[in-house]
Amino acid sequence: MQEDRFTQDFFQFLQASPTPFHAVSFMAAKLRESGFHELCETRPCELLAGNSYFIIRDNGALAAFTLASSNVADPSFRIMGTHTDSPALQIKPLAGKASHSFFQLGVEVYGGPLLSTWFDRELSIAGRVVCRTSEGALTTLLIDFKRPVAIIPSLAIHFDREANKGHAINKQKELVPILSQITEDDSLNISSILAEQIQKEHSNRKVEAIISFDLFCYDCQPPSFLGLGNEFISASRLDNLLSCFVGYSAMIEALKDTQADNNRLLICNNHEEIGSLTAAGAKGSFLHSILGRIMPDPVTRDRTLHGSFFISMDNAHGVHPNFSDKSDPDHTPLLNHGPVIKSNANQSYATTSISGAIYKTIATEAGVTTQDFVMRSDMACGSTIGPQTSALLGIPTVDIGAPTLAMHSIREMTGSHDPFLLYRTINRFLTRKRLPQTEG
Ligand code: ZN
Repeated sequence: MQEDRFTQDFFQFLQASPTPFHAVSFMAAKLRESGFHELCETRPCELLAGNSYFIIRDNGALAAFTLASSNVADPSFRIMGTHTDSPALQIKPLAGKASHSFFQLGVEVYGGPLLSTWFDRELSIAGRVVCRTSEGALTTLLIDFKRPVAIIPSLAIHFDREANKGHAINKQKELVPILSQITEDDSLNISSILAEQIQKEHSNRKVEAIISFDLFCYDCQPPSFLGLGNEFISASRLDNLLSCFVGYSAMIEALKDTQADNNRLLICNNHEEIGSLTAAGAKGSFLHSILGRIMPDPVTRDRTLHGSFFISMDNAHGVHPNFSDKSDPDHTPLLNHGPVIKSNANQSYATTSISGAIYKTIATEAGVTTQDFVMRSDMACGSTIGPQTSALLGIPTVDIGAPTLAMHSIREMTGSHDPFLLYRTINRFLTRKRLPQTEG
């Protein structure tokens, strides 16, 4: 695969994926196009060796897998894990109020965004809406306004001369997007706004009433290259759509390699940013239940998983030139210098010396250098879906990711080569004849 084409496709995926539901729907379409068969969790299925499948849970999580042909000698699985969600502002169920000729929507904060970056941005709205059709059935429809429809204006500095000295943001009072200007007789409400949008996007559906929704505000500025030599990428939701894109692209590309006859699986969980304890999250049963379908016998499953390998992909922190004192001085990942292996003595990352060595070996074979990250010893360490998945399944795991700056800002930044460098290592992981083994 060519890097230019790869990055163009990545931008397209980012723009088409304002919410986890949209990301999953986009990935599903790509997988379907490439020959993956869709399974449904509520129905029995017969899995055939040599075939590829995918399953969606709760619109926001997806698992895709390819089974080796029946005469393969190595039954192990090569597994990649990512998450589909990003920090955002989620619209409240009964949102919509008039104030001083403005129509505004109340929002809750989803996950841990850098809130200051949400002010003065052109925001759009997207998500899923549950409707009742004219036949009386409930149906879930995805909507995306795709254009700027909302904004949270800052308070002018003249009303707060101390604004640049640090300002605690009151989430209830200050984070209320403006959606429209109205007169006193306007009867604008969230249901009428959504009904009109559904009519635009799903004109073939006879919707009688809107029952509920999961809608998010998002930054609708497209991703772009940045820097004098286009060295960087600036975009929303790089955490963790970057890894989702690398994962599904590698799964699809591996099908073209006729030599690559092995079991491989990609799991894209939802709800990582809020702790993963949901049906679609990494602490839920999704991955376990899929592996149970593939390997119904628990003893065989445990044995196979122990000989398998899991790459937990989530973005890493590059060293920030203005805040380099926040990085451990000996561990300062640079943009465009290769994927970052994350480790932590207290296992907030699942990397061990063995799993790190296996990933380094694979990356070296792909011609890609890796970098090492540990948090400063005097600061708390973040985490990923790696440790919990590794603990639940007993599978050797490495935590890695593309180096980024401004994680959880409405616009995040990475090197323009970082997505492809990560992809090359994952492609090698999926297509290598056998996983590297350690003795002893
Ligand atoms: Zn993440």
